[in-house]
Amino acid sequence: MDHFLYRDGALYAEDVPISEIAAAVGTPFYVYSTATLLRHFQLFDDALDGTDHLVCYAMKAASNQAILKTLARAGAGMDVVSGGEYLRAKAAGVPGDKIVFSGVGKTADEIRTALTGGIRQFNVESEPEMEVINAIALELGVVAPITVRVNPDVDAKTHAKIATGKSENKFGIPIARASEVYGHAASLPGLEVIGIDVHIGSQLTELEPFEMAYTKVAELTEKLRSEGHNIRRLDLGGGLGIPYTRANDAPPLPVEYGALIKKTLGHLGCEIEIEPGRLIAGNAGLMVSKVIYVKSGEGRDFLILDGAMNDLIRPAMYEAHHDIVAVDEPAPGVEQQPYDIVGPVCESGDTFAKERNMPPLAPGDLVAFRSAGAYGAVMSSEYNTRPLIPEVLVHGDQFAVIRERPSFDEIINRDTIPEWL
Ligand SMILES: *Cc1c(COP(=O)(O)O)cnc(C)c1O
Repeated sequence: MDHFLYRDGALYAEDVPISEIAAAVGTPFYVYSTATLLRHFQLFDDALDGTDHLVCYAMKAASNQAILKTLARAGAGMDVVSGGEYLRAKAAGVPGDKIVFSGVGKTADEIRTALTGGIRQFNVESEPEMEVINAIALELGVVAPITVRVNPDVDAKTHAKIATGKSENKFGIPIARASEVYGHAASLPGLEVIGIDVHIGSQLTELEPFEMAYTKVAELTEKLRSEGHNIRRLDLGGGLGIPYTRANDAPPLPVEYGALIKKTLGHLGCEIEIEPGRLIAGNAGLMVSKVIYVKSGEGRDFLILDGAMNDLIRPAMYEAHHDIVAVDEPAPGVEQQPYDIVGPVCESGDTFAKERNMPPLAPGDLVAFRSAGAYGAVMSSEYNTRPLIPEVLVHGDQFAVIRERPSFDEIINRDTIPEWL
């Protein structure tokens, strides 16, 4: 469910007409709904009701300060995967003891930043990384709380680029080696082993891979406890998928996911952490774009938009589907026609959809890409010297620009000329 609905023939974000935002900020832009962000966070929080838990928003999905602040105020922790994200979380007012640091290649500088500023835990992904965290903790005179990310060798049944829980993926340590690695961790005085971490992938549309992974984590918890480790926190990662099309079978609901967690792990008495990103931000955001030209091709018509692959890369990168709707609601019964919907970038990959049925559209008309809130703005670039597009946050009948479009001068002046030129 989201808060982007038609009212009197026009698409709204909560109580604000999309066309009003377009007139104020220009196109293309991203727009997020506060109510949808909060609702999705709340669904997870409620799903784990009755268990000691923390929902750590995986901020790589959408990391604007205003989004982080909105979620942090509601009680969310944050899952970060770089030093930059750590500093973003701190800047948004998230205390260190609610920030979890994940990621397969944390540098010494990033580890130092987090240990200095305070951290809930590092999710460690390798033994060499463990050694570095230990050395920096000893140098700073602190003890670093850690979990080890285990790779359960489970097929997440999702797009290959976002599956992370098979043994051939770069993530975590093989679960079969866990005893040895935990033994090693326990021998390092700068570390305190507090739990286990697992994250098997993103956009999972079934519960079964989670069940397989969490069952393995439950067995491992008992094994490691029997070996003397005080396993008291389980970080279960993110990954629950969202419906990208209305036609699709809907993925499981957070409440079903929560019930599975309780069923597989509830008996262990551990504190539970989850790291949802996509399900919190995905359907809380739209990308709005304008039709520049309608071009008749051979056997097909092209809808050429002012938004492009640099603004929303998911279709080019993951063959992802986004529902694209007209901002002016089509009259009932209007005849649809197929368009190839493309951006202006000089690559054939800059295609958002092929033969997509749309109502008749003309230059100047606005369209909205649904489910663009996660892995949208954060993955955008200035390829073709197209400025990063603005982000707007709606709250009831108010809206605010939360990241401005840079000017061309700002973009050009980021470059510096060496003295010999
Ligand atoms: C990307 C990521 C997440 C979030 O995944 P979603 O599919 O967006 O929920 C959580 N944890 C880790 C370690 C990740 O890398």
